[in-house]
Amino acid sequence: MSATIRALATVLLIPCQFPLIAQLEPASAHVSLYFPQIADGGNFAQRWQTRFEFTNPHVQLPAAVVVDFMAGNGSRLMLNFGSGPASRLSFTLPPRGSRSFATTGLAANTVVGWAYGSASLPVQATAIFRSIEQGAPKVDITAPPVLPGHSYLSIANEDLGVALGNPYTDAPVAVTLSAIDSSGTKVGQGSVQLPPAGHRSATLRTLIPALPPGFKGTVSMETSAEPGGRDYFVAWTLNASDGVLSSLPIGTSAWPISHHDRIRLTYWKVLNAAQQTVGGSLGLNLFSPLVELRIDPAREINAFAFGGSYIQINLALSQLISDSPSELGFVVGHEIGHIIRARLGNRPFFNSNPELDADAYGMLFNLVAGYDPYAGAGALAKLTMAAGTSGLLSQTLIDHFDVHRSDNTRISEMYNLLREICKPSQFSAFCAEYKDLIHPNFPSGVPMAEPQRPSVFLTPQVGETFRRPMLR
Ligand SMILES: [Zn+2]
Repeated sequence: MSATIRALATVLLIPCQFPLIAQLEPASAHVSLYFPQIADGGNFAQRWQTRFEFTNPHVQLPAAVVVDFMAGNGSRLMLNFGSGPASRLSFTLPPRGSRSFATTGLAANTVVGWAYGSASLPVQATAIFRSIEQGAPKVDITAPPVLPGHSYLSIANEDLGVALGNPYTDAPVAVTLSAIDSSGTKVGQGSVQLPPAGHRSATLRTLIPALPPGFKGTVSMETSAEPGGRDYFVAWTLNASDGVLSSLPIGTSAWPISHHDRIRLTYWKVLNAAQQTVGGSLGLNLFSPLVELRIDPAREINAFAFGGSYIQINLALSQLISDSPSELGFVVGHEIGHIIRARLGNRPFFNSNPELDADAYGMLFNLVAGYDPYAGAGALAKLTMAAGTSGLLSQTLIDHFDVHRSDNTRISEMYNLLREICKPSQFSAFCAEYKDLIHPNFPSGVPMAEPQRPSVFLTPQVGETFRRPMLR
């Protein structure tokens, strides 16, 4: 057994209460949960009730969840979920568990606002608005939580319901709404000023007073802030036609992303994976004291770990690798690796070089968190490109004079580790399962392609079934 494999065996086999599996969850699961609309109460003829449903997709770990409710002016919103007025829900979801919270719907006047939730693991959440007419439930509208975005696009008519929230607690946000008719011509414009943590919901006709009667087309919403300023907002639209309400797809722009939320998502996923992987075997508790996360706006493409206490991810680094959650996951895992080494009294685990040691942790935690283990190469290559050091001479000099070593050396070390992880029999089942799910078309001989895939998975057959009719 090589030293690396002995290290791996220590890390992976001793905590046998956690079988080694890569955690996967629905794409909609997140640790940041923005609900752009809440409605509660009204009169007997028509009143609203909002219900929140939460599920924890993780098969082994509980998720702690906190949800805060805000009113239009950004102050706390008191809601009654059956045990008296409160502006916060705080609860724990067991592995694979779920919880449901419904407002009483008994407020004399309809109360509206919005909510922000955060979780210690990605959870799947839904808000369900129930319209109750003459005491009888008439319709439920479901709305998934959204993420802050740069712009929002929705089909629209004059009765469209629009909900907007300001995710910043320290500054107002101004959102401009443009009504565009079916031929693509802009026919109206409105503007909404949201106070810090504030909210507004109204029909499109109210928000754009000069909207042409009978308007039908789209609404495009964007912030009027300078680029890089307070230019994110959360939005949601509700279709209304002939007096009937229905849900619409989320229209938040896919790019650029909300980096704070992306960083928090990878941090919680990787931190939990790290605790699962090394917590038992090395006797470390990364939650007590918690390995804290700091997100910094410094104009420096960098991330680092401070002693055994916190990791810092600069927004500039997140922006460099923002098209890949797996690459960000590797960076977070690398920094957590430094924390583990510090908490072990600087004892090396995989490698005497602290940076190569941290790389090994980063790749391993990425794997267990359900990210792509190849992402380490992507993150390092982008760093090299941004630094302009990808030339052979630069790489050779870095190898000799920088403790980080060259990116070529680091990628090569990770390649060797990945090969070794998948070779011994005790890890081969994990590698085979992972490859089947994530890299089913990798040729054999490439790490994560060994050993050959067992026949228990259906992926290739399903692929064949879909491919044939589409190609003919
Ligand atoms: Zn490092």
